[in-house]
Amino acid sequence: MTITSFNPPVRTLMGPGPSDVHPRVLAAMARPTIGHLDPAFVHMMDEVKTLLQYAFQTDNALTIPVSAPGSAGMETCFVNLVEPGDTVVVCQNGVFGGRMKENVERLGGTAVMVEDAWGEPVDPGKVADALQRHPDAKIVAFVHAETSTGVESDVPALTKLARDHGCLTIVDAVTSLGGIPIKTDAWGVDAIYSGTQKCLSCTPGLSPVSFSERAIEKIQARKTKVSSWFLDLNLVMGYWGGTAKRAYHHTAPVNALYGLHEALVMLREEGLEQAWARHRRHHLALRAGLEAMGLQFIVAEAHRLPQLNAVTVPSGVDEAEVRRRLLEDFNLEIGAGLGVLAGKVWRVGLMGAACTAHNVLFCLASLEAVLGGLGAPIPRGAALEAASSRLAGERD
Ligand SMILES: *Cc1c(COP(=O)(O)O)cnc(C)c1O
Repeated sequence: MTITSFNPPVRTLMGPGPSDVHPRVLAAMARPTIGHLDPAFVHMMDEVKTLLQYAFQTDNALTIPVSAPGSAGMETCFVNLVEPGDTVVVCQNGVFGGRMKENVERLGGTAVMVEDAWGEPVDPGKVADALQRHPDAKIVAFVHAETSTGVESDVPALTKLARDHGCLTIVDAVTSLGGIPIKTDAWGVDAIYSGTQKCLSCTPGLSPVSFSERAIEKIQARKTKVSSWFLDLNLVMGYWGGTAKRAYHHTAPVNALYGLHEALVMLREEGLEQAWARHRRHHLALRAGLEAMGLQFIVAEAHRLPQLNAVTVPSGVDEAEVRRRLLEDFNLEIGAGLGVLAGKVWRVGLMGAACTAHNVLFCLASLEAVLGGLGAPIPRGAALEAASSRLAGERD
């Protein structure tokens, strides 16, 4: 067998991530590798921190990209902030809250679960109850944008409750950063993590994180060592840290960081508010089209994420076959349902560089062609009509 260079097919990525990576980001990543302690690289690292502070809307000095995917950003928050014996209120309304629970328990903490149905936001009333019942709780952890269902939870309401009870907050912003408003400082978030491959439209594999002064105080007051050497922020800061001389911790993913730098430069050029507005505008057009096709959103309008559209599969339709045909015939990737929603929904992402009017119309046309080809009873032409008049209306 001869193995030659790998040339991936060119797809349009409209699933739950990764999203399409902009050519500018790919080009940045192809630039020459330099040393991770080279002064030119260190200068770029400082710019990445400044750009991340902008994206997270924070002045937190400890705002850096962890050299690993979003899951490692999650672990960074938990492994540094949770000590054995700590009680953590963990909110679960989809897949990712379950992983938070797993993190707390593996660290020897106790997870007090606050559960809401998949597709519902976290209920602040239940969190208030849990905090009353567990006055010893030290942390409240929740997901801002639940990618498994497309629901947004109310960050400022939850952080306020946590603060009123003297708790720190850990917020999963993997799918929200760059797509919907995040105001880390104004909302009083203590630890927040994200990923590069969703609304930042960078390649997968990096996880921006940010920690408040209060969070750093808790880390510094630990009685036990952080159990992960790689993710121990005390050590990571020796490399990413403030003014002191940078020390080798691990070899930074140099070219991946060029890509993140470029993606963040693009976000700043567009402007955060404009990026949020673009996600919302195109979501409304996609929604008009999907609903005209007869597909229903599983999340109530008030809590819907523009960047993750979960809609029910029409009865009698083989959902996996639809995704297979979209990929094979149209080079279009959309997402399947996870967990209790497996087989029941599609998750259509409109994230970052993939969130364009072109993709909205392309996705609707492709989906209509595939569903029509499978004999599903959908009105023909209605989706494109609804979406394009919505887009035209936005222009006026
Ligand atoms: C994608 C995602 C993660 C995990 O990120 P990876 O980069 O896949 O490790 C965590 N939380 C949420 C809400 C996500 O959407």
